[in-house]
Amino acid sequence: MAIDLAPTIQYKAADYKTEAHNDWCPGCGDFGILSAVQLTLADMQIAPHRVTIFAGIGCSSKIPHFVNTYGIHTLHGRSLPFAVGAKLANPELTVIAAGGDGDGLGIGVGHFVNAGRRNVDFTYILFDNGVYGLTKGQASPTLRLGVKTKSLPQPNINEGINSLLLALAAGFTFIARGYAYDVKHLRELIRMGIEHKGSAYINVLQPCPTYNDIMTKDWFGGDDRKDPQTGKALPRVYKLNQNGYDPLIGKNAGDAEIQSKIGRFIEKAMEWGDHIPVGVFLKNETVPSYDARIAERIKNYFDAAPARRTIADAEGKTTADLTAFFEEVRVT
Ligand code: SF4
Repeated sequence: MAIDLAPTIQYKAADYKTEAHNDWCPGCGDFGILSAVQLTLADMQIAPHRVTIFAGIGCSSKIPHFVNTYGIHTLHGRSLPFAVGAKLANPELTVIAAGGDGDGLGIGVGHFVNAGRRNVDFTYILFDNGVYGLTKGQASPTLRLGVKTKSLPQPNINEGINSLLLALAAGFTFIARGYAYDVKHLRELIRMGIEHKGSAYINVLQPCPTYNDIMTKDWFGGDDRKDPQTGKALPRVYKLNQNGYDPLIGKNAGDAEIQSKIGRFIEKAMEWGDHIPVGVFLKNETVPSYDARIAERIKNYFDAAPARRTIADAEGKTTADLTAFFEEVRVT
């Protein structure tokens, strides 16, 4: 039974803020995502000591320093193995992994793929700005072919990864995309990701005003293509659910429905340029969670998950007894 140390406290967004110095550039999209995370945790009233945020290396990966929860600023590309390990060790934790597109889809892409296929219950928030901001704006894995940001001497010679499609192929069962400057919408997405019982991937369009002068706030907001009649900007970012898009593949969905929904997902995930959808692209309930897979194999796992076990006596001598565990997993 979990011991709740502060069951009656009402948490505010301020309770998830820290005093750590933040050196992100003025106007960076990271600030919007940070606010969305703090507001979501307050919305959900998750006690700070019940949350852990893992991040890799990069500008955005400094986020564990700025959120007043447990957190580890890990190694480059390694946020997901930490997240998976923590969730398996302590299933009661709300686990969030975070970091940039260079961190997660460059050096970390092997972990991205292998974390997705397990369907462990965590939420991965990827700050997607198309550049390696911390190291002066080199092209990152999501920058599209032929795009030349002000930090590049030549247009990008590589094609960019479509991370929504990659997440689908890897097996993530909740896939969404948000926009860093639409904090209200983003906090809804993060909440849905945390509530989802499985691996949730949230790609966030995150302008980097210092090195990416192409995918800017003005560009996403359509300031360069005003309506000739009204003079108003025509935003490129639009909400998926405006057009009745339904991301849910329910538990009992048949093959035809699954195929149709996946086809629609692919179509929407490939939209870019003048129309960029944000929202929930997929919520697939047909895949068993890793919890369910473990519970089937190791019956008492959740009665005494590793973090709940006494590992040493008062003198520091180990009390670990794995006999029962090995009895459970023995192949007969
Ligand atoms: Fe943000 Fe770019 Fe500055 Fe990094 S370099 S803090 S991503 S604006």
